[in-house]
Parts: sequence; structure tokens; C-alpha cells
Amino acid sequence: MIPYSRQDISEDDIRAVTEILRSDWLTQGPSNVLFERAVCERVGAAHGVATSSATAALHVACLALGLKAGGRLWTTPNTFVASANCGRYCGATVDFVDVDPRSYNLDPARLAEKLAQAERDGVLPDVVVAVDFAGQPCDWDALAALKARYGFRLIDDASHALGATWQGRPVGAMPGADISVFSFHPVKMITTAEGGMALTDDAALAEAMRLYRNHGITRDPERLRGEPDGPWYYEQQLLGFHYRMTDVQAALGVSQLRRLDEFLIARRACAARYDRVLAGLPLEVPWQHPEGVSSRHLYPVRLHDAGRRLAVFEHLRGAGIGVQVHYIPVHLQPDFQQYGHGPGSCPQAEAYYAGALSLPVYTRMSDAEQDRVVEVLAEALL
Ligand SMILES: *Cc1c(COP(=O)(O)O)cnc(C)c1O
Repeated sequence: MIPYSRQDISEDDIRAVTEILRSDWLTQGPSNVLFERAVCERVGAAHGVATSSATAALHVACLALGLKAGGRLWTTPNTFVASANCGRYCGATVDFVDVDPRSYNLDPARLAEKLAQAERDGVLPDVVVAVDFAGQPCDWDALAALKARYGFRLIDDASHALGATWQGRPVGAMPGADISVFSFHPVKMITTAEGGMALTDDAALAEAMRLYRNHGITRDPERLRGEPDGPWYYEQQLLGFHYRMTDVQAALGVSQLRRLDEFLIARRACAARYDRVLAGLPLEVPWQHPEGVSSRHLYPVRLHDAGRRLAVFEHLRGAGIGVQVHYIPVHLQPDFQQYGHGPGSCPQAEAYYAGALSLPVYTRMSDAEQDRVVEVLAEALL
């Protein structure tokens, strides 16, 4: 089976993990600090908060930004459900902004229209979550300009985009983004088996996210509200969660991050080769914004004849090729339809989804494997 994506674990990665297993410290500890610093350095952010998943990072990000019951979060429909669920965990209502038909990212023009209407109706969003779909950065300058005009807080769900750049700047420190989130699930750019990280330049937001990550508990003498009655003293200052990353995972993250450039080169070469060899087939290869450089986490093609997508998918799967579909528009999920979302609310995302197919792309994909994917795809399409 050729998978749509897979992790790339080296002997050095394994050594990094076994070293921690032989040490005294397994849970969140010194390796977490090293991993947070390394990711911050890589992307040029001031503070990193490692978590058990990107989903947890999105949740603590929303909490730190003050999202509450009755608040409003807007996001793109073309994403994994976690980008929207973080709002619902806080009791906020979630709404969706349709995508740009070329990049499949949240469309700043649609966002501008929706914000103008919301301002008239007095229902502006508190938080907007933009997603760098497939690893391609959103138009961060346009998003930052709208943020400045309307005053919402902005989260970059950069789960796909570690290593990507916008106007030469690394994703993770985009203009306007209050908090950026990476995922380290095995199919993503680097892995910690499970894990995520929230990054910010704002020390107070970082401190709040650390508190929410660990039951709302602090031992920091500077922050205590009560009088310690002994050295064991700690305080729960708010209702937090257990969202910590283990040091076993963080050590794997440190080791994987050293290999990010190698991973980016391999994925970009793979994508560039698809761009060449797929020319002439009845499909759109992923359009690339001239001001961004994608990490190429995914290679989503769009079939011209959406009516054949199911047959093409089944033909490829039947030949042992692990194609996927990213994403079922979140607003069409039954659990979101109960809030009044449904077919027709985001026509561009729905039209894209109808013909969408993610072709395999991973660091160790060989030319022969790629040729096989293209051969079977052509067979199905022609
Ligand atoms: C993978 C992913 C997530 C969730 O990541 P986890 O680490 O599995 O929680 C969130 N948003 C997007 C866009 C993703 O692709």
C-alpha cells in the first residue's frame, strides 16, 4: 500500500527517545523546554507551549484569548473539525467563511463582506481561525488588515504548514496572528506521535496557555494569590485541563525538527514532480500563491469531472494507493448542521470538495511509487 502520508523515523530519532526512557524524567520536563525553544527559534516566535495535540493547543489558545460562552468564532469549512471545535469547547457559536477557489484557503474577500454585514448586525466575531491548507499560507497581509479594521483576535491553525513561508517569513509568526498552532500527528510535517504546540509573541497569552495546559495550577511564587502554608503549596487559579506533552514525545520532536529541512526538500520535490507529470490530465494541480512557499503537507488535486471522483478514488484504492479526501466541509457535518449550517452556505468549499482528491506525498516516496500513482490515476481518468 502506498499511503497518502507517513512519518519518517530515523535511528537518531529512536536514540533520542530511548535516551529519555532511560532518564529520570518522562512527563513534561526539560525536553519540553528544549522542544519549545527549538520550534520558537525555527519560526521566529517568542513563546512556545507544547501540548498533547494541536486540538488541545487550539483549545487553550481560544481560552487564553478570552473566548467564552456566547462568543463567536469564525473559521474555514475546508479544514479538520478541530479548527472549529475549539470554539465549541468554549461555548462559542461557530460560523464559516467560504474559501478562495484557487488556494482553497479562507477567502479574505468573503471575510471582508461577512465582517461588514456582521458589524451592521452587531455580531462581529471574537476569534477567527485561519488554516494554511495543505501547507500553503493564507494571505496573511489581507487577514491582518481586516483584523486591524474590525478588532477580532486571529489564530493561525498551521497544523499543515511547519516550514512554509509567506513573503519569506516562516509560518508560526505571521502578521496579525495572535497565536499559531502546529500539529505533530504522524502524517504532519514532523511528528511526536501525538502532540501540538501553540506559539505567540505575547508573554501574557503564553502564561495563560501554560496555566490552562496544566489544570490551571501554578507554583510560581510571583503568581500565587494566597499565602503558602508550606513548600508543597500550589494553587488552582482557574479550571484548566491535562494537556501536557511527555518528554518522550518532546525528545522525538527535537530530533525530528533537526530533519525538517530534509523533509521539506523531499516533499517539495515530490510536489514539483507531480506538477510536471500530471499536466494534461483532466484535473487542477494545487495552485500556489506567488508570495507563499508551501510545506506541501498535502497534494490536493481537483478533478474537472467531480462526478467521477468516487470511481477514481475506488480505482486507486483498489490498486493499493492510499488516496484521501481533504476535507468534508465542516459545516456539512451533522453535528454542525444542528446549528443551522448546511448545503449552500459555503458554495466554493462544497464545489471544491466534490472533486477533491489528495494524492500520496511523503518524504520517502520514490519516483517509481509516484509514477505508479500517476499511471493508475491516468488509467482511471482517461
Ligand atoms: C491535524 C489537524 C488538527 C489536529 O491535530 P491533532 O494534533 O491531531 O490534534 C487541527 N487542524 C488541522 C488543520 C489539522 O490538519
